[in-house]
Amino acid sequence: MIPEPPSPAHGYPGRLLVFEGLDGSGKSTQARLLGKWLQSRDYRVFFTEWNSSDLTSEVIRRGKKKGLLTPTTFSLLHATDFADRFERHILPPLRAGYVVICDRYAYTAFVRDAARGCDPKWVRNIYSFAPKPDRVFYFQVPVQVTLERKLASRLKISYYEAGMDLGLSDDVVESYQKFQGRLRKQYDLLAGVDGFTIIDANRQIEPVQNQIRREVRPLLERFPTAESLTHGE
Ligand code: ADP
Repeated sequence: MIPEPPSPAHGYPGRLLVFEGLDGSGKSTQARLLGKWLQSRDYRVFFTEWNSSDLTSEVIRRGKKKGLLTPTTFSLLHATDFADRFERHILPPLRAGYVVICDRYAYTAFVRDAARGCDPKWVRNIYSFAPKPDRVFYFQVPVQVTLERKLASRLKISYYEAGMDLGLSDDVVESYQKFQGRLRKQYDLLAGVDGFTIIDANRQIEPVQNQIRREVRPLLERFPTAESLTHGE
């Protein structure tokens, strides 16, 4: 069996590809399409998304319902959640040499917590266990486009997605525009600091996917497929 070349970004044999952006920017659609394409090319792929784990979902749900969470406690619960996801679902396949596709990563916490007023340095420090990905694709899109996509697909705008807890406006749509605008600003800042690959997500699905495939190809040069691992080629 040939050993996987370790990634220069994090030192593990796998590859870590991260999809970030506002809700409705199309990142889940693109992450899944990329995963299927890589699998069809015989790469070992593991897909994971930003979901509450069993460990914290009940506490977060109750806290949200009763309005008990401050930005700091909210941030700490999400960090616990992410640590659980990282250790259970991201690190093992990364160690085992898989291409790990993450629909949202620690950057989601950085932008949301900063938009809620947490100190960005404090937040980064909490997530210092999360290694740098091989690539972060940032789906950049005007807030208005995400709103239109949501309305078109009849997706409901949630209370927290609209930032209603921050008292920006009593109107859900107006609050959504203000809060998502804050998130977009934070993402744009991080894009420079953390070297994101900016994807113009205000395009049709196909050209966006083609661009991502072109970006991913060089990261998988000499990266073993399932077949080559089985036959030791
Ligand atoms: P996200 O994961 O960023 O929240 P999704 O991939 O779930 O976004 O897409 C949100 C909605 O927008 C879905 O209904 C999806 O079908 C639609 N969508 C995704 N990409 C595009 C695109 N490029 N153009 C128009 N609609 C899109």
